[in-house]
Amino acid sequence: MDRQRGSVLWFTGLSGAGKTTTARQVATALMDAGRRVEMLDGDDLRETICKGLGFSREERIENIKRIVYVAKLLSRNGVDVLVSAITPYREMRDYARSHLPTFVEIYVQCPLGECERRDVKGLYAKARRGELAHFTGISDPFEEPEHPDITICTSGFTIQRNCETVLSWLQGQSQLMNAAP
Ligand code: ADP
Repeated sequence: MDRQRGSVLWFTGLSGAGKTTTARQVATALMDAGRRVEMLDGDDLRETICKGLGFSREERIENIKRIVYVAKLLSRNGVDVLVSAITPYREMRDYARSHLPTFVEIYVQCPLGECERRDVKGLYAKARRGELAHFTGISDPFEEPEHPDITICTSGFTIQRNCETVLSWLQGQSQLMNAAP
């Protein structure tokens, strides 16, 4: 039985920055390389194991703790876990790092103005109209990662290029992370 640990690739960044899009591409590449992969998407989890949690600081922290818990179970059984969740506070990312031995912090960087222009889910417009409280980047803080393992920029580079950046970083760490594609 494969007892190797999987990596936890944690994509953090503003809503619409490209966390899910990039994570999907990386997941496909890892699966093609024969890895067992699971995606944990913040929006999906808020419909299931995190249902009912709101967006206060305490509830956001609880949300992340639940995701960390699931990521831990999967990764210790050899599954690479790709988490896409805003994870706006340093405290949360520090929590994830300290609970997950193979945690990789990936900062998905994109200027707020570009995220608003994309407005994938129409949420920025709502937040600007004052219809959404606690919206990250508008009425709730996003504390920029200070020491991410990887930073990718989605306003300047293609999805493919960013995916390659992540994969080559993993390859460079393969002896540590057991995640070489
Ligand atoms: P998030 O998960 O961070 O909320 P999504 O991945 O759901 O963001 O949405 C990002 C949007 O930006 C998608 O519509 C995607 O097609 C678009 N996009 C444009 N350029 C890029 C890029 N270089 N990388 C990732 N997404 C991009």
